[in-house]
Amino acid sequence: MNAADDKTIVKDYFNSTGFDRWRRIYGDGEVNKVQLDIREGHQQTVDTVISWLTDDGNLATLSICDAGCGVGSLSIPLAQAGAKLYASDISEKMVGEAKERAEALLGNNSNPTFTVQDLETLSGKYHTVICLDVLIHYPQDKAAEMISHLCSMGESRIILSFAPKTLALSLLKKIGSFFPGPSKATRAYLHREADVVKILESNGFVIQRKAMTKTRFYFSRLLEATRN
Ligand code: SAM
Repeated sequence: MNAADDKTIVKDYFNSTGFDRWRRIYGDGEVNKVQLDIREGHQQTVDTVISWLTDDGNLATLSICDAGCGVGSLSIPLAQAGAKLYASDISEKMVGEAKERAEALLGNNSNPTFTVQDLETLSGKYHTVICLDVLIHYPQDKAAEMISHLCSMGESRIILSFAPKTLALSLLKKIGSFFPGPSKATRAYLHREADVVKILESNGFVIQRKAMTKTRFYFSRLLEATRN
């Protein structure tokens, strides 16, 4: 399968069954045990990013690009905390949901701005570029290009999360207990941390903070890198 096919599959998935599934996971309604586990894991990743950024004490001065923003789980609280958020996602359904959630919480507000856009077509410069749990949709040979593009928009900082390619996770994936349920409709790609770090470094960034969220069904390595 070529990368364009991969992307079309991901886009169609997040505009159909994937939208229904992930809107529920990223919500607060009733879900099954696996989905609840993933919800809690994802929330930990979001909370870690928010705590890093608030600890720095300059959130209100930042422009932030949230690439692959989903339903706005990170963009909305960061905008609430005073940052200027430019959020986008390849799925119009996810963006529609994000807009509704933002309006319910923040009223008719131009922050965050939400656009339907493939992250490869994003441009502009932002203090910080954030891309959470999107690399799982990118095969290894497409990751370097994608991360380099994000780096080109980041004036000072990149924050990325991805499912790490460890022996344990590779085995879990093989026996099929990783990402159970309908999310199997898309392929899940794991990435080696050393590879991701190398790509960031080759774009002039240095790792500053790291975190790992690990629940039963959710695994996400979080890296913050700043421009050298
Ligand atoms: N970053 C959000 C979060 O952490 O709440 C959403 C994570 S969700 C697992 C992955 C999201 O990436 C989906 O909303 C999907 O539509 C989006 N996505 C996948 N490939 C993309 C691409 N090439 N450009 C923009 N968004 C993409």
